[in-house]
Amino acid sequence: MNAPAGPDRLLQGWGRTTGSRSRVVGPLAPDALRDLVAGRPERGLLARGAGRSYGDAAQNADGLVLAPATGPRIEPDTAAATVRATGSTTFAELLAALVPHGLLLPVLPGTRHLTVGGAVAADVHGKNQRADGSLSHWLESVELLGGDGELHTLGADRDGPAFRATVGGMGLTGVVLAATLRLVRIRSTLLRVGSYRAPDLDALMALLDTATSRYAVAWIDTTATGRSLGRGVADLGDHLTAPDPAAEPDGLRYGPARAPRAPQLPLGVFTPLTARAFNSLWYRKAPRERHALQGLPEFFHRLDALHEWNRALGPRGFLQYQFVVPPQARHVVVQVLEALHRAGAAPFLGTLKRFGPAGGGPLSFPLPGWSLAVDMPAGRRGTGGLLERLDRLVAEAGGRVYLAKDARLGRAAFDAMYGPLDDWRATRARLDPAEAMRSDLGRRLGLCR
Ligand SMILES: Cc1cc2nc3c(=O)[nH]c(=O)nc-3n(C[C@H](O)[C@H](O)[C@H](O)COP(=O)(O)OP(=O)(O)OC[C@H]3O[C@@H](n4cnc5c(N)ncnc54)[C@H](O)[C@@H]3O)c2cc1C
Repeated sequence: MNAPAGPDRLLQGWGRTTGSRSRVVGPLAPDALRDLVAGRPERGLLARGAGRSYGDAAQNADGLVLAPATGPRIEPDTAAATVRATGSTTFAELLAALVPHGLLLPVLPGTRHLTVGGAVAADVHGKNQRADGSLSHWLESVELLGGDGELHTLGADRDGPAFRATVGGMGLTGVVLAATLRLVRIRSTLLRVGSYRAPDLDALMALLDTATSRYAVAWIDTTATGRSLGRGVADLGDHLTAPDPAAEPDGLRYGPARAPRAPQLPLGVFTPLTARAFNSLWYRKAPRERHALQGLPEFFHRLDALHEWNRALGPRGFLQYQFVVPPQARHVVVQVLEALHRAGAAPFLGTLKRFGPAGGGPLSFPLPGWSLAVDMPAGRRGTGGLLERLDRLVAEAGGRVYLAKDARLGRAAFDAMYGPLDDWRATRARLDPAEAMRSDLGRRLGLCR
């Protein structure tokens, strides 16, 4: 079959470090989509969501990319508190449709501009990962157009291996056409949030470790050293259990303010010195303890308040290094912070979370333990070698790097973190025998040809 016409485009991830050119097509009608996949395009194909993964996960150099794969469609069942949504529907669209019914997505990553397909493919987690697990724990079913061109309905119980290979499988088993999710009931759009400043890593980890709130996350000063190493501010939040008519006179509404475009920052603005100044200022301006009511966008999606902030950081782009290590390996967090400092990596933003249950599948990121995410400018001398050393520390501790944030992990380090993947490969071979589904990330990590 001749592939449908579409523009040849340079595609990049959110970090804007690695790009590649692909023919971009979509949305396609179900039959046309099925014919396209079954026709096994010569250089493979891949579904792309909103391009919020940081590296090359949503790219397929010289091949086809479905962007979007489907049209948006939302079918809530308010009595059952579930929703069926197509793969290209965004979380922002879902929130606008669901919140007025007192329903909330059970997992909210740090941006609302991701799609259902991208969320399933990365088995995303939110600030409630410890309490509620990642998305896989909330999925009732996934409707997958497998790389074999067949429709597979994957339920968590009914078809274990295919479900587990697809959730977290970074788009390499097929195209997520739709998913059905269980939802959380809310009576208010407000959260009661306690913010606590911690002078060092032990204090910060203790706040997260002992938190009883549903949501818990910490901003961490990635530049502090010595006795202040790992200082930060923990935010612990819970939904109000009853509406607050004074604070939300319009009832259950979801209407985040329009995000202005981020101003372009001067080239090379992030140096070790400016990163340190920015982080110190942030720490000092945080009160020792504060209690406040926050709305959904303010609590969950602060980074969405600036449109295209990733472009403001300059043409070289930036890297995010997010890893998780088991609870007993908290020393790795210390080693990583010290190594970033020694190498002058200019880490300008850090987030620490305590993780709970592991995710669904072999490629799913979450494990019980500590997750640290650090943003840093790309292209600084020595950053590549530094991150390879960190990969070894993380792998030796039994941890792993998050593929949805990754742009540079090598195959050996990946195998040490996620391997052996015989079961995943066997299931993929069943769902996609001709390896129709391919991505730049998949090739880099030896997951596809
Ligand atoms: C500011 C910011 C904050 C973030 N915070 C978090 C966080 O807190 N927790 C977290 O878990 N993640 C977080 N992320 C990462 C993000 O949630 C994931 O990268 C997610 O996969 C992005 O979804 P997307 O729709 O943009 O997918 P894309 O980036 O376009 O694609 C990601 C992967 O999904 C696959 N895919 C997309 N659509 C489909 C489909 N229909 N069928 C099959 N495969 C598909 C692609 O092939 C690719 O492998 C954050 C990202 C940003 C930019």
